Amino acid sequence: MKKVVKFGGSSLANAQQFRKVGEIIRSDESRRFVVPSAPGKRFDGDTKVTDMLYSCYQCAARGEDFSNQMKAIKERYYEIIRGLNLELSLEEEFARIEADFKAQAGTEYAASRGEFLNGKIMSAYLGYEFVDAASVIRFDKNGNLESEITNRLLSKKLSRCENAVIPGFYGASEDGMVRTFSRGGSDVTGSLVAKAIRADMYENWTDVSGFLVTDPRIVENPQVIETITYRELRELSYMGATVLHEDAIFPVRDDGIPINIRNTNRPQDQGTLIVESTCKKPKFTITGIAGKKGFCSINIEKSMMNSEVGFGRKVLQVFEDQGISFEHMPSGIDTMTVYVHQSEFEEKEQQVIAGIHRAVQPDFVEMESDLALIAVVGRGMKSNRGTAGRIFSALAHANVNVKMIDQGSSELNIIIGVENRDFEAAVRAIYDIFVLTQI
Ligand code: ASP
Repeated sequence: MKKVVKFGGSSLANAQQFRKVGEIIRSDESRRFVVPSAPGKRFDGDTKVTDMLYSCYQCAARGEDFSNQMKAIKERYYEIIRGLNLELSLEEEFARIEADFKAQAGTEYAASRGEFLNGKIMSAYLGYEFVDAASVIRFDKNGNLESEITNRLLSKKLSRCENAVIPGFYGASEDGMVRTFSRGGSDVTGSLVAKAIRADMYENWTDVSGFLVTDPRIVENPQVIETITYRELRELSYMGATVLHEDAIFPVRDDGIPINIRNTNRPQDQGTLIVESTCKKPKFTITGIAGKKGFCSINIEKSMMNSEVGFGRKVLQVFEDQGISFEHMPSGIDTMTVYVHQSEFEEKEQQVIAGIHRAVQPDFVEMESDLALIAVVGRGMKSNRGTAGRIFSALAHANVNVKMIDQGSSELNIIIGVENRDFEAAVRAIYDIFVLTQI
């Protein structure tokens, strides 16, 4: 068994957290490849080291004195080193970083040092080999990942290591310039390492015990999802549920490697397993509920619309010309409705209306704003009768007026449009009917 274990910033925020991580790694000898983030927040209101580095470098780039900010960053690392009783000096590394900051080595280089230094500490703490991500994760000149070269470099290097620490979040282009993924990108590094070594499992350790069935800000203590497929996850993340960086899915998904989301502060919890497919039935008919507020609908009516070939294309062309992407498009016989993000749409509203009039000469165009979309997602819906019936009777009982219904042909999700002000009540009603009453 080979496992890749990635630890997020809150799991490595201080020496106490490092110790928990050490215990987790030592308790299972298949945890051979470790991907650390930079130290995160130690308490509410604290600053992540990555953010400290960004603002420190801004000073450096303006040619201002950044010594105080650098001192605070150093202190974050020395606090960890002291707390772990390690014989490790990072003075050389810091001298180099300071010189590189003065030489304006770039924002991405600056941000990457958070993971680089934490990787150094982790490697000393565990006695695992340190592999600089700059030598094995390759970006092109435009800052995009070169996945094939990366896979080759990583497998070549790691096949010779019994165990290793590979810092997350960054890599380098061929000429050695350090580049980073977008924020939260250590998840992507973990996934790339898992693919390259053909891991049996990619464990992603964070500060929650997995994905929750719904948002805990809406439902108190929601249940944890035990197993979720990549497709379900995609639907839920798109609607706002986030735990994992989106790009972390592709490398492992291609190779059928499962991801296990685990909680560093509660290692006894099994967390959520993300898999390509499974014959395990979900615990409840639905896997999760997610949603977002802030949509608008544009309703277009024209008599005999249904016989006009190309009507839909012409309408959508207007949105495309204005650079607006649409979310959903339910249609009737003589009507079609387009759902868009309110914030994207508002300033271009009049151009879109004029465009639609020119393109298809509708009888009228009507708009409604402040709408919310809720996705009820679950692979179990396909084989269960009455899912939609239960959702809508729950919503009726909660006095929620349903504005739109859209069930994809995959039968993996049902999308429901409601008014913004009904959003929370709707989510609660759906959660209650499926999870609390468990029918
Ligand atoms: N440290 C980086 C960030 O704060 C990357 C990561 O943690 O994944 O975004």
